[in-house]
Amino acid sequence: MPKKLFRCAKSIRQAVVAAVTATLVLTVAACSGAAGETPDDGRPVVLTTFTVLADVAQNVAGDKLRVESITKPGAEIHGYEPTPGDIRKASAADLILDNGLNLEAWFSQFVEGLDVPHAVVSDGVEIMQIGEDSYQGKPNPHAWMSPVNVQLYVDNMVTAFSKLDPENAAVFEANAAAYKAELQTVKDEMIQKLAGVPESQRALVTCEGAFSYLARDAGLREVYIWAVNAEQQATPQQITRAIEYVKANQVPAVFCESTVSDAPMQQVVGATNAKFGGVLYVDSLSESGGPVPTYLDLIRHDSNLITAALTGASS
Ligand SMILES: [Zn+2]
Repeated sequence: MPKKLFRCAKSIRQAVVAAVTATLVLTVAACSGAAGETPDDGRPVVLTTFTVLADVAQNVAGDKLRVESITKPGAEIHGYEPTPGDIRKASAADLILDNGLNLEAWFSQFVEGLDVPHAVVSDGVEIMQIGEDSYQGKPNPHAWMSPVNVQLYVDNMVTAFSKLDPENAAVFEANAAAYKAELQTVKDEMIQKLAGVPESQRALVTCEGAFSYLARDAGLREVYIWAVNAEQQATPQQITRAIEYVKANQVPAVFCESTVSDAPMQQVVGATNAKFGGVLYVDSLSESGGPVPTYLDLIRHDSNLITAALTGASS
């Protein structure tokens, strides 16, 4: 496998240059076939920062590229701390995709010193700004919560993949066209479904302010406890603000996301007449046997759950 040898040689060189002994040891272990690694099958390797991007990328790549995610299903992705194994994987990859818009706070340090091209898949989206907290005026990074934006992510992936593997450019174009049609369908379904929520109940109250793009597309009012997942979140003032909003607007149901604790939102439930509407998926897909193994499942799951809880259709 000359390609594998090349990758390992490249990794070792970088590790030496960086003088990171631990990385070097792990790199050598990988070259001798460490347990738990997918065997190299010769296809170029695309590494994404989180599972949602990996699924979208896989749809564009088809069977021509090997796509993997750095973070696992269920991981907190904003403040993730990369492991030596992640660094080893990244130095052996052929392309790295990140969301950008400050989503991955760890990313610039992560790729510093890596001799691997990377592409920002959110390039060109119409950015929504965060309206509150210390993040006020910064871009809201959760642009993939609009399937229309993901169509743009797909275009950016086609460009990056075609540069990486020009022989298969036509395949990526064809895969992208088919997947973009599916994105359009899921967006139409989402809007149609959420249109069934009466005007007085059209408030989406969540833990993180991760639904700005979905709320914009579907015409919902977005309310959240904290703006972006970080170490300092769910302060007493933030919880009080959510409680006051829910009471004043008689919000029937509130939600929290799969990658964070719902304890702060349960406090809101305890202090108001709102029910806990359930767990929404934003920053991560579920495991393959779970409720949202793909991005299209994620949008369908969230719009079904929100509609059912806000209209009282759920028990
Ligand atoms: Zn988030």
